[in-house]
Amino acid sequence: MAKYVYDFSEGNKDQKDLLGGKGANLAEMTRLGLPVPPGFTITTEACRTYMTTGVLPPELRVEVTMAIRRLEDSLGRSLGDFHDPLLVSVRSGAKFSMPGMMETVLNVGLNDASVVGLAKFSDDERFAWDSYRRLIQMFGKTVFEINGDLFAHALDAMKASRGVTVDTDLTAGDLQELVETFKGIVREQSGREFPQHPREQLDLAITSVFDSWNTDRARLYRRRERISDDLGTAVNVVSMVFGNLGPDSGTGVCFTRDPSTGKPGDYGDYLPNAQGEDVVAGIRNTLSLADFEQLDPVSHGELRLAMRRLETHYRDLCDIEFTVERGKLWMLQTRVGKRTAAAAFRIATQLVDEHLITLDEALERVTGAQLSKLMFPQFDSDAVRTLLATGMAASPGAAVGQVVFDSVTAQEWAAAGKDVILVRRETNPDDLGGMIAAVGVVTSRGGKTSHAAVVARGMGTTCVVGAEQLDVDATARTVTVGDRVISEGETIAIDGSTGEIFLGDVPVVPSPVVQYLEEGLEVALANVHGADAEETAELVKAVDRILTHADAVRRLRVHANADTAEDAHRARVWGAQGIGLCRTEHMFLGERRVLIERVILARDPVEHQAALDALLPLQRADFVDILEQMDGLPTTIRLIDPPLHEFLPDLTDLSVKVALAGERRSRGVEEETAEEFERDTVLLAAVQRMHEANPMLGLRGVRLGIVVPGLFALQIRAVAEAAAQRIRDGGHPHAEIMIPLAASVMELHLIRDEAEAILAEVAAAEGVELHIPIGAMIELPRAALTADRMAGVAEFFSFGTNDLTQTTWGFSRDDVEGAFFSEYTDRGVISVSPFETIDRSGVGRLVRIAVEEGRAARPDLTLGVCGEHGGDPESVHFFHEVGLDYVSCSPFRVPVARLEAGRATVEGASSDSR
Ligand code: PEP
Ligand code: MG
Repeated sequence: MAKYVYDFSEGNKDQKDLLGGKGANLAEMTRLGLPVPPGFTITTEACRTYMTTGVLPPELRVEVTMAIRRLEDSLGRSLGDFHDPLLVSVRSGAKFSMPGMMETVLNVGLNDASVVGLAKFSDDERFAWDSYRRLIQMFGKTVFEINGDLFAHALDAMKASRGVTVDTDLTAGDLQELVETFKGIVREQSGREFPQHPREQLDLAITSVFDSWNTDRARLYRRRERISDDLGTAVNVVSMVFGNLGPDSGTGVCFTRDPSTGKPGDYGDYLPNAQGEDVVAGIRNTLSLADFEQLDPVSHGELRLAMRRLETHYRDLCDIEFTVERGKLWMLQTRVGKRTAAAAFRIATQLVDEHLITLDEALERVTGAQLSKLMFPQFDSDAVRTLLATGMAASPGAAVGQVVFDSVTAQEWAAAGKDVILVRRETNPDDLGGMIAAVGVVTSRGGKTSHAAVVARGMGTTCVVGAEQLDVDATARTVTVGDRVISEGETIAIDGSTGEIFLGDVPVVPSPVVQYLEEGLEVALANVHGADAEETAELVKAVDRILTHADAVRRLRVHANADTAEDAHRARVWGAQGIGLCRTEHMFLGERRVLIERVILARDPVEHQAALDALLPLQRADFVDILEQMDGLPTTIRLIDPPLHEFLPDLTDLSVKVALAGERRSRGVEEETAEEFERDTVLLAAVQRMHEANPMLGLRGVRLGIVVPGLFALQIRAVAEAAAQRIRDGGHPHAEIMIPLAASVMELHLIRDEAEAILAEVAAAEGVELHIPIGAMIELPRAALTADRMAGVAEFFSFGTNDLTQTTWGFSRDDVEGAFFSEYTDRGVISVSPFETIDRSGVGRLVRIAVEEGRAARPDLTLGVCGEHGGDPESVHFFHEVGLDYVSCSPFRVPVARLEAGRATVEGASSDSR
């Protein structure tokens, strides 16, 4: 039978699946002997059962009773007692942290009787009544889903009637009266009394935490973070400790290193005389840990020891929540902390230097997504800038956008293609949609651990918090700084690394990491300057160290998709070990379009050949340039792929043009010459003839090579002659010819025979030896399913996963993403676009079959991928797993693929040894 409840003393940090992150870590801290308030965790399995059946499993009720009794016995207090009551908090905690997305109910166990007991225990009647009114308010909002404004307005009305402005000026009597008012609101809105029985409160709170797993905002967050909807949340029932019992109490959040830069040291916020989420909510501005030390050196000292203990134990940056109750420190939560991309790299190498982790582990601690964030440009510190205000640097980056004041506007404007910066006093979980849509987030309140900071950092969105000079008026849609009023739509620029906010646009410069990738470590370090030069230098060195290690351990080679000599150059500089896809269709655009038009419109074979001949020297020159850039490295040139009518004018445009000209000419008006009119008429006939209802499934790829005489031959000859020229010039060309969109081995045979004849002819004529492998793109399910036969003819396979995804799913790659993928993600059909991340079970299975059968037929078959997936971190891991030889991606993603290929190797190794 399932066990649904675990005391904190029973679990450990490796049970996140079952106990959620918070529960597993509370258990771990309990095991370490740190001061954790006693409690227990209800498993995610209980939540999953509840989600499928709609009711709490009956065994759960029994187990909760026993756990509560154990808790009562260990503390010598009981729930609902009116002398010395036990109060508990009921907290959500899923496997993956979802900051602020789910519910928490504090002070469960308070009722008309136990509030008296609390007053006695705390020796503070005011505190007891305040706690009770907070419970009713929180309970009303989360359990009964009552509009929170009703409680807020009642509180305001009470303050007004007593002539006070802050909550703390209300007396115990006032708060007692407010409790009655709040109970009335519950009665009116929910049709029932506020439950007096503590056990009923507890069960309702547990159910509502489970329910909060499925709120819109939680689902949106999960979709973005790619967390499965099926996991469910655990619930932690923790005995209450109070940070709001007076000046010797308080609550705080801290990090064992700076999560935004990675700098070693203690970072955190402390709020004296405060409870629960007050710090994270950013409602009052907080004190630093140094201030906390002044205030309470003993608790601070204990906290420092606990921080060090946790960091050594977890061997990583830890993020901690704590409370001090009358001078006694309590640890409420810890987890491996979220961090910015720069911090991730710096902390990983710091921990290597401190001998806490190995370089392999450091590689596992960073991601390709983080590396690509470090490659974004930064503000030019030499540019003239108008500083508006300075807040706290919460999540780095340089963002320029139009000011908006609410989440809905942010989403609307972003959907219309505008860059927006969301400016708010503070954010709350309902702002998530706007935060996702915005390029940057600014708040005037809150610290580095406020909701805005935590969420933005998690998403990698540039963020500045606590910019107190800003007076944000969301109703008037203005923000005022001194006497400068900024309205919605005005442009500001924010620097998430310094906390600076500038008026207007600010130019950006390339990132130091890009400079390192392009010009090497020495040049990059020599160019580092400005106030944070030391940190930047450490970052660049960390990236170099980890990337170099990735290169040393990875098995996958990384190639680039490059069509021009320029791209090839960049790819090579960024570490590409070859070109995996040189698309040749771009070589027929621009001025050359007329030449391909001549091929299409030729009236007889002689004209046709003459048109092709005119293209030959141009193509050859293209290939010479590329082969020169890639000297010594494999360069895979794909024969022309798109339908030829893509090189002709659009059918509708041309029809209209010809019709209008014809009509004008019938009236004797001639705006064009007779030849021009004649040419357009012939062109129109060709466009009509070649029109296809489904061009992606029509006359393209290898089919063109078979049907259009001489077209592939021209390209093959150009490749061969270019390679010969490079050899004569002393180079080492490694050209390869790739045939697109083959579905049948016969197609490959036809092209291969033709190619071999041409290669032999050119080799003989030029007096050189040519080794130009001929391979196939695997872009159609049939090609994958007949891989054994295809491998008999092809010397290499390159998976064209763009077309393979399109044809496996039957999704038009040009249409569906914009048309209905958001609906499909909302409805859970897909969690991420299969055009972005490989669909392992469908498209991936075809790849796996083709790899296995292709290799069985030809053991030395080279295998690569050149679809967009070649640069997608998650897909790179899949390609490593199935045993490809290389991935090929756009030049900009080459460093990311290098890093991920290294990570795939070390992760594979560590999971093998587990
Ligand atoms: C592919 O289909 O994956 C591919 C690389 O070819 P293209 O994107 O040019 O169709
Ligand atoms: Mg393709």
